[in-house]
Parts: sequence; C-alpha cells; structure tokens
Amino acid sequence: MIQAQKGTKDILPQESANWQKMEAAGLEVFSKAGFKEIRTPIFEATELFARGVGDSTDIVNKEMYTFEKSERSLTLRPENTAGVVRAYIEHGFHRLPQPVKLWYKGPMFRYERPQAGRQRQFHQIGVEMFGCAEPSADAEVINLAVKYLNNLGLNDLEIEINSLGCSECRKKYREAIKEVLKPYLAELCEDCNFRYEKNPLRILDCKVDSCKKIFEKEEIQKVILGDFICDDCKAHFDTVQEYLAALNIPYKRNKQLVRGLDYYNRTVFEIKSNNLGSQNAVCGGGRYDSLVETLGGATTPAVGWAMGMERLNSLIPQAVDSRLDAFVISQDTTQAIKFANELRNNGFSAEFDYSNKKFKKQLDKAAKAAKYAVILMDDEIKSNTVTIKNLDTSEQVNVSQNEYIKYLK
Ligand code: ATP
Ligand code: MG
Repeated sequence: MIQAQKGTKDILPQESANWQKMEAAGLEVFSKAGFKEIRTPIFEATELFARGVGDSTDIVNKEMYTFEKSERSLTLRPENTAGVVRAYIEHGFHRLPQPVKLWYKGPMFRYERPQAGRQRQFHQIGVEMFGCAEPSADAEVINLAVKYLNNLGLNDLEIEINSLGCSECRKKYREAIKEVLKPYLAELCEDCNFRYEKNPLRILDCKVDSCKKIFEKEEIQKVILGDFICDDCKAHFDTVQEYLAALNIPYKRNKQLVRGLDYYNRTVFEIKSNNLGSQNAVCGGGRYDSLVETLGGATTPAVGWAMGMERLNSLIPQAVDSRLDAFVISQDTTQAIKFANELRNNGFSAEFDYSNKKFKKQLDKAAKAAKYAVILMDDEIKSNTVTIKNLDTSEQVNVSQNEYIKYLK
C-alpha cells in the first residue's frame, strides 16, 4: 500500500475547520492593517534560497528539497521571504507607494528529522513589510502577530525580542563571540564548528544540549549580555520598545536570540508557547534591510515574520459544532433535491438522503448531521406543508411550504 511520505500529513476533513479558521483570521487581521495577500510559486531557482536564506544556514545546507529539470536546479521553498522578495523585485514593487505590505500562507518544505512539531511539509502564515526603516514598522508587524494570535483565542504566548544591530555592530559582536568561544571549539558540536567559520553568531541558536551548557558559562554570558549595538541601533530598538509598551504588548528581552537565518539585522523576535514541548516557537521574525539588495533589487529596508501553522493548530481548540443547518427528509427524491437546493439558495447549509432510505434511517442520519430536519413525507406533500423538527429539543411544527424559509430564518 502506498502511504503518505514520512514527515508529511493529510489534513483530514474533521481538522479543516481549524485550518479555515487560521486562514480566515489572517485575512481579517492583516487586511485591517492594509496588508494584501501574495501567492508565490512553491518552487523557485535553488540559487534564490542559497543567496536569500544564506549558505551557512541549516535550511540551505541540509534541509532543501532540490531537484533538477531541464538542467536547471530547482528547490521546493523552505520558507517564503526569499520568494516574496524575488516577486517584489521582479514586479518593480519599489515603484509603488511605500511601504508595500504583504501577507502569505502556504506549504513549506524542509528535509528535517520528523518529530513532534517538525514536519517535512508544513505550513506557514506570514507578513512582510517593505520600504520602511522606521521602528514603527517593527512594532506594526509584531502587533499584527499578537493580534493574529489573539484573534485565534491565544492570549498568553511569550514574546522575546532582541536587536542584532547593524552590520558594524554585528562585526564587533561576531569578533567577541569568536574570541570567547575559541577555547571551547573542541567541545562544541560539529555544526557549531562549521558556524564558527561561516556565521559565528548563529552558534547561539544551537539546540544541542552540550552546546547550550557551554553558552551558560560566565564569560560567555558576559559577552552575550554585553552591549554591542551602536547609538543609532540602540535608539531604533528603544523606540520599538516604546511602541510595544504603548500597545500594551508584554515582551521579554532575550539577548541570546539570534534567529536561524542569515539575513536579519536590528530587531529580531520570536513568540513561544509553554504548551508545545521542545519545539516551542510558533513565530519567528525580524528586520532584514539588506535582503532585497542581496537578491538584486534596490536598497529596501524590510521587516516581517512567519508562523508555523501546525504548531499554531495544536494550540487552538478543535472547532466543535460542524453540523448543517438542515437535513431534508423525504421518500420522494425529487422533493428532497428541490428543497435542499432551495434551502442552500436561501443561505442555509442543507443535505438530503441520496438513496431514499426508510424514514427512520433518514431521521437518524439527520440527527447526527444537522440542527433541523425539514420533513416532506406524503402528508406534507399533499397539504403543501413541511414539518420542521428541532433535532436538539425534538420540538416540531408544521408550516406551509411558502413560509418555511421565513420560519427557519
Ligand atoms: P526551529 O528553531 O524550530 O527549527 P526555525 O528557526 O527553523 O525554527 P523559522 O524558519 O523561523 O523556524 O520558521 C518560523 C516558524 O515555522 C517556526 O517558529 C515554526 O513554528 C515553524 N516551523 C519551522 N520549521 C518547521 C517544521 N519543520 N515543521 C513545522 N513547523 C516548522
Ligand atoms: Mg529549523
């Protein structure tokens, strides 16, 4: 038997109500702030991710689904920021009034070891805001993440923020981290040794326990907690925090937060839940002022985030009442089909019995599927009436066929 691939999951009918809720919440919350949806292709040139996500990241080094077609190297998108940036450049969005505010949702692909909270095909919903370097943009996107979570009934997640500074600040920070970690190189994992050469800051994002232990050492914490950001970056970060305070958004400064991708500068943030186990991050984001230029566009500041929808789904309660409004019960299929159709035309959800089973069987089915039974047996048909039965209370009334829609409404 052919089965779904390891690390992939079917989203079954009984789960789709939650997924529709997550998508509808995005549309509602982001539209209110003037963000428009963009849908980019699922596969892109491999080069886009190598350059856009960064060739020192786990994503590019180990996790990409890459294949060849007509001698071109293509990759299933592991995240969507690079694709959105490519579209921004390709369609000349820099000529539009700035900022350009976009949101997306859809499947992403990473070849990782499947485990709780980690799949090979998973979904992200995210926002990207281009063309605004002001701290108000950072606060705006963080606020959107919070509003989106609130809309789904999630009010108690932890927001962690940090500033990585500009390229000058990062250079100083990088050197200090390299210096203090040097004596521990032999004890750090293989990946961290690779990162040491390629992108030392990312060492602090390592999830290996023995590495995490090393980061707790006093001299290393001193470097992490030290202040490397310049006055401009500090002023930017302070203002972001003032805006968050004005919005009553509680947050924690986590000076060890660096994020897994190469392109971030200044503000970075994550949103975590205590109810998720070890893969506890729901949302990750930050500012990426050099990415548009890196991918061949004009210098364009940008800030955004992405949320993992599977992790989100496991935090929101399963939708309960998925019953239809009405189930039409009749021994006359022509009547049943006609009345179900009329109910639907009038805004109700309705079903009928396709194979004309016995009254009792149809009623059993109705009781499971719907809130009301609309009954059209011989008596009703003869008298041009319908019987409407409330399937919760078993109360029933007989009304004329001209009136029953009005009655149900
Ligand atoms: P992690 O540290 O958990 O690997 P990440 O830094 O790789 O996260 P991002 O690239 O920032 O994750 O993606 C944003 C969000 O997408 C994550 O916070 C998470 O909720 C979700 N996500 C990332 N990878 C997976 C995956 N393999 N399966 C399910 N969700 C994922
Ligand atoms: Mg990851």
